[in-house]
Amino acid sequence: MRVHAVTGSGSGIGAALRRRLEAAGDRVIGVDLRDAEVEADLATVAGRTAAVAGVLAASENRLDGVVACAGLGPHVPDGAAIVSVNYFGAVAVLEGLRPALAAARGAAVAVSSNSATIANSDNEIAAACLAGDEGRARQLARDPAGQSAYGGSKLALARWVRRQATTADWIGAGVRLNAIAPGAVLTPLLQGGLDHPALGDAIRSFPIPTGGFGTADQIAAAIVFLIGPDSAFCCGSVVFVDGGTDALFRPDRL
Ligand code: NAD
Repeated sequence: MRVHAVTGSGSGIGAALRRRLEAAGDRVIGVDLRDAEVEADLATVAGRTAAVAGVLAASENRLDGVVACAGLGPHVPDGAAIVSVNYFGAVAVLEGLRPALAAARGAAVAVSSNSATIANSDNEIAAACLAGDEGRARQLARDPAGQSAYGGSKLALARWVRRQATTADWIGAGVRLNAIAPGAVLTPLLQGGLDHPALGDAIRSFPIPTGGFGTADQIAAAIVFLIGPDSAFCCGSVVFVDGGTDALFRPDRL
């Protein structure tokens, strides 16, 4: 039986992924704030340590897949929490579970976002994340009128994947690392944005060439591909599953 760790397994994309994997006969070790096999707060260093330890114990140090899906949306007023969960929480889980992936020659996926490319994302917050400076990233993200903490954290996560995937630690150990960049997908996270007085209209008017929001299950299907054997030639890929929004805004930028 294949065994996977999925953060954010309690809701939205993570829950859809759990359903798909379990329907295929795989085992999922979920990590979330509540209602998961491993309950931990990925916003804190202690919570990340507990999450990694809990998954390693439950998996007996052997994992076929790890998906860092837990995240906070752009509507969350605490920008510092956004960078802590979306970037530092994701990276800590991926790094902490890498040896268990190596034991099974498994694969990992980080859930980024098309906000990495189409929002105001190439900012100092992204740079502070990639420098590993959580204090500085949190400080920059606290300014409510400041740079996009959400876009910055998601761009940094995609860049981290591309920088790490080809190294000795990852593919050198037989572990593939890729990212997925979803567009607007109807989950509780997106609903939080739709309900937000400033963000709601902007999200509703956002162009999606395929028409309408995506579903969590459409993203889960792409993640299943990226952690499975059919994607054996994918390494450091950032796969946009966004109804064409990124292509619409940036047709010539790859
Ligand atoms: P969701 O809110 O439905 O699920 C997110 C899950 O993460 C929840 O179960 C939540 O409890 C968990 N989580 C949040 N903070 C946590 C913490 N501190 N510690 C542990 N778990 C925590 O959201 P979703 O839409 O399914 O989003 C999943 C991922 O997809 C996120 O990383 C999000 O940024 C990304 N994403 C979503 C969209 C979208 O439109 N829904 C678009 C692009 C990217």
